[in-house]
Amino acid sequence: MPRQAFDPEPSPIARRAFLAGAAALTVTAGALDTEPGVAAPPRHFGHGNFQIDVFSDGFIILPDAVIAPDAGPTERADIIRRLGGRQGTADIPVNIPLIRAGEALILVDTGSGDKFQSTVGRLRDNLRAAEVDPASITHVVLTHAHPDHSGGVLLPDGSLSFPNATYHVSAAEWDFWMGQDPAGRYPGLRDFVPGARRDLGAVADRLVRLRDGDEVVTGLRTLSTPGHTPGHISLELAGDDGLLITGDAITNVVVSFEHPGWRFGFDTDQDQGVATRRRLIDRAAAEKLHMLGYHWTSPGFAIAERHGTAYRHVALG
Ligand SMILES: [Zn+2]
Repeated sequence: MPRQAFDPEPSPIARRAFLAGAAALTVTAGALDTEPGVAAPPRHFGHGNFQIDVFSDGFIILPDAVIAPDAGPTERADIIRRLGGRQGTADIPVNIPLIRAGEALILVDTGSGDKFQSTVGRLRDNLRAAEVDPASITHVVLTHAHPDHSGGVLLPDGSLSFPNATYHVSAAEWDFWMGQDPAGRYPGLRDFVPGARRDLGAVADRLVRLRDGDEVVTGLRTLSTPGHTPGHISLELAGDDGLLITGDAITNVVVSFEHPGWRFGFDTDQDQGVATRRRLIDRAAAEKLHMLGYHWTSPGFAIAERHGTAYRHVALG
C-alpha cells in the first residue's frame, strides 16, 4: 500500500530545490511570450473498448532544478540536451487524452487555460480544430490540481470550459487543497493554493469524489498514486495489454525512467513521489503495460523496459 502520511517538514534540500525551481519558472514564463501556434491535430489510438485522441495543450518550460534536482551540473546539462532544451531549461510537452467509451466522452485533465505559462492553453483551440464541442464532454477527470492540469477548468470569463461534464477528483486531492491551508505544511505550495481552490471550488456542485479502485466508467479505474500531490491519481484502462494514464506520477522521459530514485522538484512529498514512481514503472515493465504520460514526448504513449536497476522509456506511435 502507498504510504498515506506526509512528512510535515520536507528536507531543506528538497525545499530549496522546489523554491529555486518555482522562482526560475516564474522568470522563464515571463521572459518567453510566444504567440499561439497553429492548431495541432490529435493523435488517435484504440485501446480495448476505448477510442483515445491525444490533444496537445502546448508545452511548459521547466528549469533543470525542477526536472533533476538530484543531478550534478554535468548530468543536468546532458539531461537538458537530451530533452531538446538549452541554457538550463527544457520545453516539456503537455498531452491530454480525450477518451470515448460508448456514450461517454472523458477528458483527462484540462490543461492550463489562461492560468499558467503563455506557451500552454492550446487545448481549446485544438479541440475546436478537431470539431470537438467542449459542451459534448461528459466527464472531466483531474489527476491533480496543479495549474497545468486544472487551470483549464474555467474560461477567462469565469464560466466552465466544459459546462456539461461531471468532474472526477480524488477525495484525498480535494481534501488536501480545500481543507486547512496546505501552504502551512508545505510553504513551497503557496503560489499554487489559490489556483487549486479556484479550479476545484468551481466544480463543487458537480463533483465526484474518487477513491482508489473506483471506476469512472466501466473499465476505467482509479489508481491512487500519491507523492506528486497527496491525492494524485492515475487511471488504468482495461483491454488489450492494459494501459496506464500516469498523469504526473511519472513526469519525465529521461529522469523518471533512468533515475527512478531521483526526486522531482514539483513533487509535494518527494520521497513518496519516488516510491510511487518506482512501484508504477516496475509494474508497467513487469506486465508490459502501455502507458500514456502527460509530459512525455508527444503524443505520450510508451512502454517501460527494464535496464539494469533502472528503466528505459520506449515511445510508441
Ligand atoms: Zn504537470
